[in-house]
Amino acid sequence: MAGRKDLNPMDIPHSLLAKHNRSGPRYTSYPTAPQFTDNIDLEAVRSIWTDANRSNAGLSLYTHFPFCRSRCLYCGCFTEVHHRLDTGRVYLSALKKEASKLLRDFASNRRVHQLALGGGTPTYLGHEQLADYINFLRSAVKFASDAELSVEVDPRSVDEHYLDSLVETGFNRFSFGVQDLDPKVQDIIQRPLEEQHLHKLLTHLRSRKREAFNLDLIYGLPGQNITSFSETVRKIAALRPSRIALFGYAHVPWVSPHQKALEKYSIPNPNERMSLFGTAFEVLIGAGYKHIGMDHFALPEDELFRALQSRTLTRNFMGYTTKKGLDLMGIGASSISSVGRTYVQNGKDILAYNKRKDGFHWEKGIILDEEDLLRREIILDLFCNFYLDQSAIENKWGVSFSRQFAQELHDLGPMADDGLISMGQHSLEVTPLGRFFIRNICMVFDKYIKSEYTEGRYSKTI
Ligand code: SF4
Repeated sequence: MAGRKDLNPMDIPHSLLAKHNRSGPRYTSYPTAPQFTDNIDLEAVRSIWTDANRSNAGLSLYTHFPFCRSRCLYCGCFTEVHHRLDTGRVYLSALKKEASKLLRDFASNRRVHQLALGGGTPTYLGHEQLADYINFLRSAVKFASDAELSVEVDPRSVDEHYLDSLVETGFNRFSFGVQDLDPKVQDIIQRPLEEQHLHKLLTHLRSRKREAFNLDLIYGLPGQNITSFSETVRKIAALRPSRIALFGYAHVPWVSPHQKALEKYSIPNPNERMSLFGTAFEVLIGAGYKHIGMDHFALPEDELFRALQSRTLTRNFMGYTTKKGLDLMGIGASSISSVGRTYVQNGKDILAYNKRKDGFHWEKGIILDEEDLLRREIILDLFCNFYLDQSAIENKWGVSFSRQFAQELHDLGPMADDGLISMGQHSLEVTPLGRFFIRNICMVFDKYIKSEYTEGRYSKTI
């Protein structure tokens, strides 16, 4: 794994891109969200969550803040634009109600190893409000002394004073959405951000001995070209964040109608997208970053890279993580939990969320059967670590891999012929070329995708 040679995506033949560019999931869960149903047995879910609490296993907490001060036109997140002063206060009170209930009923024996605030914009709230919420959680559940506390920060919404408060509250990982530093692109996507301001914030965090920050970029936005985007990536790499996410813009106006406003500009086509990604890839690898998973880059000393080397990287609704084996409890409108063999999702109606007195918001989900659990393990291993040890799967699950997955092994044949995967006698290994087609490779093991029409349901795989 350590000796794996990186391949520049620009060297991928166009014919191969065209052949595999279909719609498919990003596998932040398996089964994926379209399989969640409102016809779920909530009593059975409660019983599984109660058992999980008895097991004392570690826990990850996520809270969703669905508010922003303005709408960025590329946005695909669940969020609303609000300017009312009491919006945050009312929502915080509902969050506390839900957190109290979940943590009292299902986390009394558990310890939190990871806490993440996402959105929307968590920093839409005042820093006192965020501190109050974290202190509330700390009083409701035990935290591990080395717990990771991360927060998504809209750099436009904070100053050094705000960051000081986050540091004092205990946050030790900061994720900044940058997307592109080119003012022309920022103008098109309606997300103005001054480079100097970002620089000042990161310098300040460093002065407070906080080095763990991620910067997010997006390629494939209208107005981007190779020259200007490579300049953005060069500037971002020079800031030496420990991690950089390089997401592809997903144009899905049937889900996010505000994206239609971008159609009056020219949106990069698949070949142009691959050139933008390839250019950014070359800059980042040249600057000493390691390629992680599908779209992440990390400094070699970062734990994401160490987890990739030891094949222990995993993935949840928040993206790649080194915290394998943690259940995830989601709090807030639309948030998703993954506890034991369940996924459950809260309703998305914020008014209803605020009004509900009992703090109970589960609306849909799925209880995984044995086959789902087995396929989830296979898909996550391939997706995150690009490797599958078939013997380990056989020993753990008591199955004959070649018999149970005969069809899948057959379906992987053409991908092996295209050089995307190498099929050993007891293992599957995704090649450097195959990493760019990892969604397609994993889809072979997705039993639901075979029977459903995926166009329009998911973003494009490449
Ligand atoms: S700040 Fe983030 S969540 Fe809010 S509209 Fe912009 S991209 Fe979407």
